[in-house]
Amino acid sequence: MTAIDLRSDTVTKPTDEMRSAMATAEVGDDVFGEDPSINELQERSAALLGKEAGLLTSSGTMSNLIATLAWSNHGDEIIMGTEAHMFWNESAGQAALGGVQTRLVPNDSQGRINPDDVAAAIRPSGNLHFPRTSMICLENTHNRCSGGVLTPEDTKSVGDVAHAAGVPVHLDGARIFNASVALEVPPAELARDVDDLSFCLSKSLSCPVGSVLVGSQDFIDNAKRWRKMLGGGMRQAGVLAAAGLVALDTMIDRLAEDHQHAKRLAAGLANIDGLTVDPESIQTNIVFFEVDEDLGTAADLIAALNRNGVLVSYPGKQSIRMVTHRHISPEDIEEALSRTSAAVRELRSAA
Ligand SMILES: *Cc1c(COP(=O)(O)O)cnc(C)c1O
Repeated sequence: MTAIDLRSDTVTKPTDEMRSAMATAEVGDDVFGEDPSINELQERSAALLGKEAGLLTSSGTMSNLIATLAWSNHGDEIIMGTEAHMFWNESAGQAALGGVQTRLVPNDSQGRINPDDVAAAIRPSGNLHFPRTSMICLENTHNRCSGGVLTPEDTKSVGDVAHAAGVPVHLDGARIFNASVALEVPPAELARDVDDLSFCLSKSLSCPVGSVLVGSQDFIDNAKRWRKMLGGGMRQAGVLAAAGLVALDTMIDRLAEDHQHAKRLAAGLANIDGLTVDPESIQTNIVFFEVDEDLGTAADLIAALNRNGVLVSYPGKQSIRMVTHRHISPEDIEEALSRTSAAVRELRSAA
């Protein structure tokens, strides 16, 4: 039995077209700015997101950390939602390496934060008891909020509050193209009211490695120094950028398929007695669902799913995440649903 791997879209492998582009990529020493493939990827990424300049980094985590370092000084405070990836899943890099304190405001179920909460959380200047607010962070799509999307209006409402107070906005756009495809809105519109953003090549876009950080030329010049300090100055990494260029050409439009599969998956899960999910709430490729306590915990169901050949991730006490991606076909979705039903039956008969 081949396992159906719904742990993450990070499990996607490079396409044949990516591999051949990687094999023939023109390269140079990128620390000298001389890698033509990287320069092209950075320029095209910036243009796609409506920003002046771009910077290839090793990961989304590195891009988010560089943004914190570029905008903040030690002792500053950064604001983000309670479910932010930067808060939950980045090894406290902002605190450990950026020396900043993180202030949380509530996320709604779609991953939005309320501009009034942000306005109230921004520190007034001139009080020596207070840290300085150095940055507001948004996330689109929102990982822990079931892949929820922020519309251009959602982003603008927070951007306006931040900018009125002179505070920059960083967008963790690891899956920004999923949001763009789901909303049928060009990516630059989703980036218009933020000062910088990072997107991942290595997730739904199927590249082996990399993220791109984009922003103003000044911001990127500064970010480049921080990347060097973190050990992220790479040399002939054009072999990686070559895959990124293929991704921008060939991997964005197809995300609509992953979204359809996630909707079908959620509808099927909702029909399994003991599991709870609202299929209407699924906007992109991430499905979180709840396990009824009378079946056991999420960990119990995950063990049963693994025995039945379904791999999943992000357990909460009662919640589980499934992610659709390029290697998951419509048949895989139906098979995953029947294996999930079997796993639930196992738990019921053991109870
Ligand atoms: C995966 C992810 C990141 C981190 O990206 P890596 O490349 O895995 O370091 C950041 N933000 C969000 C929302 C993510 O889903």
